[in-house]
Amino acid sequence: MKPFEFISSKPEETIEFSKSLAKLLKAGDVIALEGDLGAGKTTFTKGLALGLEIKKNVNSPTFTIIKEYQGRLPLYHMDVYRVEDSFEDLGFDEYFDGNGVTVVEWAHLIAEQLPEELLTIYLYLGENGSRRLVLEPKGQRYEELCKEILL
Ligand code: ADP
Ligand code: MG
Repeated sequence: MKPFEFISSKPEETIEFSKSLAKLLKAGDVIALEGDLGAGKTTFTKGLALGLEIKKNVNSPTFTIIKEYQGRLPLYHMDVYRVEDSFEDLGFDEYFDGNGVTVVEWAHLIAEQLPEELLTIYLYLGENGSRRLVLEPKGQRYEELCKEILL
């Protein structure tokens, strides 16, 4: 299958992209974000929050692993960079199965606990501040979402 890709030339474009994606999201949707430090995972999450009509500013939850925001739907923002081991159970399931949208930075670090179906987005650093976003859907729901967003 051909990968779904989006090239962003500046932070605002990443935000615009995730903001439009957010408008298509439903309760129970899970998005995994992968990429080096500074790749734009939190920036992407800010756009999601805007698209979910969240008024509060989203920032890196450095010491808090999970932060919750209220908008059109709740947004559960996880940054699992500091989770000690991949099996450490912080009640992730309740968020994945909850009434909101979950976004997980560094999701592979809790790979064993992730739901089977989700949308993984890899962010790669390019030249001159560009970023390549590669979307990897797992499950029909997310395949359709990718087609819709990249039409
Ligand atoms: P991460 O959460 O992956 O560590 P952040 O989103 O916190 O990354 O930081 C990304 C940094 O890169 C921000 O300072 C942002 O302004 C900058 N940046 C530059 N170009 C882009 C782009 N095209 N998309 C996203 N962020 C970008
Ligand atoms: Mg971050």
